Amino acid sequence: MHNVTLIPGDGIGPEVAEAAQRCIDATGVKIKWARELAGAEAKEKTGELLPAATLESIRKNRVCLKGPIITPIGEGFRSVNVAIRQALGLYACVRPAKSYQGVQSRYQDIDLVIVRENSEDLYSGIEFEEGSSQAKELIEKIEKLADRKIRPDSGISIKPISKYASERIVRFAFEYCLKAGRKKVTAVHKANIMKFTDGLFLKTAREVAKDYEGKILFEEAIVDNMSMQLVQKPKNYDVLVLPNLYGDIISDLCAGLVGGLGVAPGANIGKDMAVFEAVHGAAPKYQGQNKVNPTAMILSGVLMLEYLGEDLAAGKLKEAIKKVLAEGKSVTYDLKSNRDDPASVGTQEMADAIIKTLNK
Ligand code: NAD
Repeated sequence: MHNVTLIPGDGIGPEVAEAAQRCIDATGVKIKWARELAGAEAKEKTGELLPAATLESIRKNRVCLKGPIITPIGEGFRSVNVAIRQALGLYACVRPAKSYQGVQSRYQDIDLVIVRENSEDLYSGIEFEEGSSQAKELIEKIEKLADRKIRPDSGISIKPISKYASERIVRFAFEYCLKAGRKKVTAVHKANIMKFTDGLFLKTAREVAKDYEGKILFEEAIVDNMSMQLVQKPKNYDVLVLPNLYGDIISDLCAGLVGGLGVAPGANIGKDMAVFEAVHGAAPKYQGQNKVNPTAMILSGVLMLEYLGEDLAAGKLKEAIKKVLAEGKSVTYDLKSNRDDPASVGTQEMADAIIKTLNK
């Protein structure tokens, strides 16, 4: 029996989380789910977006399956998703981008894994609002230290990148490569411009790569060039390791290469705990319609089963998903060639088809 925290989330979160939970249970793996709140429902019921009890439950169970949570833009509070990753030290975000037969996309046979640093960079949440006394003080200080002018009406975000976190994430990527039988790590950066942050990330990556010489190939790429290369020749790449912001953007790009956010799963992994969630967000416009694709969330469940050591069940569930996608019958609207196809099924019906295939 495994104890797992389940956070349904906001928007389409509860629907896709329910679909994933049912598919995971159908594998026969015994899981005791602890349902916990975060996001809008938590705010309404407890007054807090991220109640301490939710974090406590994840700390206790060490594994969590989480639906997406809405982050209102520019309203002064930072993302609950980022807060969870930071509070629990989930420093590695792993996002596989894999082609599946039946999912329409520009390419076939893509098999990439994005390893994104999750704890620092521009996502560390150190920001100063335009016009605030702190922003003014900081601008004055920077002008003295750097001998550069900053417009007084600027907002400021700080980008810390440490040697410690860079080494930790690059090593994670190499170890992942070894365990998964993969061949190459590409470190992605903008060190030509940001010499002391991305430069440090790159220098550290080169050092770590030496420990894997002869076992895993290592190469480096500048993030803008990488974006073009991924669109032109995605099959040249294997595992990519990136600082936080580039990792976020490039993983959406890679999801686009394999057919979109509906099929892109993810894992946030720390030293001894992990939170599994789809790459997509809460898509509020589809909330409560039983319409969206549950695949990304169910594939996140596959990653969770693998993390729990339930490889057999993970394999079975993945095969069932593959079959349903390849057949293309019981799939949601976004997987049909005509999005208005009346034969598309709802979120729960697609989960039902996967469960039926699993039990065959
Ligand atoms: P989104 O991923 O929620 O939606 C973008 C579009 O992608 C949708 O309109 C829809 O067309 C499509 N889409 C997404 N998921 C789909 C699915 N399962 N099936 C079919 N189509 C799907 O991105 P957004 O609109 O930028 O963000 C909405 C909210 O979600 C924001 O508040 C954002 O902060 C939050 N968000 C949360 C997470 C998270 O919880 N980890 C991640 C990203 C965004």
